[in-house]
Amino acid sequence: MAETLEFKAELKQLLHLITHSLYSDREIFLRELISNASDAINKVRFDSLSHADKLEGNTDWKIKLTPDAANNTLTISDNGVGMSRSEVIENLGTVAQSGTKAFLEAAKRAGKSSEAPGLIGQFGVGFYSAFMVADKVTVVTRPLGSTPAEATRWESDGQGAYTLEAAEKPGRGTDVTLHLKDDAKDFLETYHLQSLVRKFSDFLEFPVVMDTEKEVDGKKEVTEETLNTRKAIWLRSKSEVKPEEYAEFYKSIAHDSVPPAEVIHYAAEGKTEFRVLAFIPGQKPFAFDWQEPVGGLRLYVQRVLIMERCEQVLPFYLRFVQGVVDSADLPLNVSRELLQQNPLLDAIQKSVVKNILDTLAGMKNIEFDKYLTFFKGFGSVLKEGLSRDWTNREKIADLLLFESANTEAGKFTTFAEYVSKMPADQTDIYYLTGESPEQLRKSPYLEAFRAKGRDVLLLTDPVDEFAIPGLNAYKGKPLKAADRGDTPTGDEVPADVKEQFAAVLGFLKEKLPEVADVRLTTRLTESAACLVADGAAVNAHLERMMERMGRDTGANKRVLELNPSNAAVKALRELFAKDAADPRIEGYGRLMFEQSLIAEGSSVPDPVAFARRVNELIMRDAK
Ligand code: ADP
Repeated sequence: MAETLEFKAELKQLLHLITHSLYSDREIFLRELISNASDAINKVRFDSLSHADKLEGNTDWKIKLTPDAANNTLTISDNGVGMSRSEVIENLGTVAQSGTKAFLEAAKRAGKSSEAPGLIGQFGVGFYSAFMVADKVTVVTRPLGSTPAEATRWESDGQGAYTLEAAEKPGRGTDVTLHLKDDAKDFLETYHLQSLVRKFSDFLEFPVVMDTEKEVDGKKEVTEETLNTRKAIWLRSKSEVKPEEYAEFYKSIAHDSVPPAEVIHYAAEGKTEFRVLAFIPGQKPFAFDWQEPVGGLRLYVQRVLIMERCEQVLPFYLRFVQGVVDSADLPLNVSRELLQQNPLLDAIQKSVVKNILDTLAGMKNIEFDKYLTFFKGFGSVLKEGLSRDWTNREKIADLLLFESANTEAGKFTTFAEYVSKMPADQTDIYYLTGESPEQLRKSPYLEAFRAKGRDVLLLTDPVDEFAIPGLNAYKGKPLKAADRGDTPTGDEVPADVKEQFAAVLGFLKEKLPEVADVRLTTRLTESAACLVADGAAVNAHLERMMERMGRDTGANKRVLELNPSNAAVKALRELFAKDAADPRIEGYGRLMFEQSLIAEGSSVPDPVAFARRVNELIMRDAK
């Protein structure tokens, strides 16, 4: 006789939420049910020695999927620990787990049930997720140490009540049968089930099997096919894994044809226990820059995939790393609840980041060519960490490679090397940003530094514009842009020279509304003029980047700096002294501004007028 029992209040709310919402990632029900089955097998296997007599030889551990198209059902069976009648009531009729409560609270906070699927994924309300795809669920279960007649059948449509009755079951364990909803029939298809098992449960210790029909010698034969590879190589110790196995595994998770540059494999023991198997790719994936990130660390709990890209364990600036983290310290039912606030994940992240940065440092010191390939591919991504990861910024800074005014083209220096070569009177580290090292090497901004024997780092990644000022200093040495602010070399223009030029500078400032100011500089030793960014103004390279992004930079003005020892600048002053009303002075001033734009790599706003001014000079010379 079947007995009807009511679900406890909270469970009713939960089931309502599950059955009355549309779920985009409802496929996770399969992960949940397979995980439960695997837990049940683990429980019975755990101290099987102590109850060996009760096992009845049923120790061929496996989880079986049986799709039945005729009846529209999918059954997940295990030969695990099973449940007694009272355990069924306790486990499947009440909210025993705090996870379910936490889920409900979060779902209430989230308000709309459309956000619920993501939450279900995070919290893993386990068994009840079956109602996402089924309008009726039947569980037949027989506990360890019972007779076939001592099984229990539980059945519910997820609407508030369930029935219980005695049942017969030949073997120990649990069969969960889902009567699939009309729109969930695709979960009967072999390939779909195969791919889901591959996705979520590929590395599960126990085989997940399914009967498949094959034709052998014209006759149809049913064979039991194992759907998961079960090769969780991260659980083995490093000494037992062959390089080919690492490469093979890497290829399978990263879909990369080139073997990894580095393998990071370790087990953390102590207060928190977890295993990490991570890879530094050997090449930059083709679509890395414009595709959604495909790297990252997958989070497993006892071989079951919990999250495909877990940012809590791998910060975004290391997104080129591929691999897995597995922690048995996050028991399945706890792990999926409040995952975000779990302090264990912070501990894992700290350890993972340290190991990755140390590995990169080792690679840089020992196998520089390999490191160079890595850096050319991912250096710009790594640099994002300078402003995002404050604890590790010095470590990241030490991993950076730069071309500089003093390096040969294609050769690199580092912050440490730069500092070691600084002349005694140099206190700051100088850098210049732009599109290419070749162009920057010819830049007028380098003149005074060169004259003083000081090197300038040449930065050409767009991210440098933010990352390097974000770093601010390296080992106490301030980082200064060569095209910003006062002359970084600290030399002053003598007061008498300033006085001689005061009037012409004032005149030019009036005639050149495009610039914020016109002043003398010691920044230049050869060139006549350049533009520098003062205060909040942006420099030329950033301005060009913003323009390419369609940002308005209209109000941005730089300062025009003139070199008082340059012959052309001197000539301009003399011309002004002779006749301040000479119309050529304005034209020459404009040429000073325009040549500065060209020198900084920007374009001249009115090229036709510029050409005319130059041509006038040519004609005058010919007279
Ligand atoms: P969780 O797995 O997070 O504890 P579930 O709602 O998935 O929550 O399951 C509730 C409980 O029901 C489990 O803790 C377990 O004790 C029991 N259970 C579920 N599935 C099985 C199974 N296949 N075999 C034995 N017990 C199970």
